[in-house]
Amino acid sequence: MKIQRNDSVLVTVGDDKGPTPRRVTQVLDGGQRLIVEGVNLVYKHVRRGHPKSPQGGRLRMEMPIQSSNVVYYCESCQKGSRIGVRYTEDGAKERFCKRCGTSVGRVSPPRKAYAEK
Ligand SMILES: [Zn+2]
Repeated sequence: MKIQRNDSVLVTVGDDKGPTPRRVTQVLDGGQRLIVEGVNLVYKHVRRGHPKSPQGGRLRMEMPIQSSNVVYYCESCQKGSRIGVRYTEDGAKERFCKRCGTSVGRVSPPRKAYAEK
């Protein structure tokens, strides 16, 4: 699965699963793990002097989840979907929703070798 930063996903497993789309803030391990906004929150206890919490205390932070526990969320069909990769007419690669076929952004510049004649 080709999930990228700032994609919307649905969480399908665990305490945070549900129908609300959430944003991916970080992709780790080449796509195997993701940090998703508001998902898998833990308290991290910090001492005084921590840059995000100078007086110390507890910080809420997101821990990574496995990318197999989410599905891509398509904005145009408003559903979880799978994502595919195809070539456009000018030879660029783009990602698309496998449910409705809408393009969800290019992943490489146009290349003549892959362009349709
Ligand atoms: Zn779609």
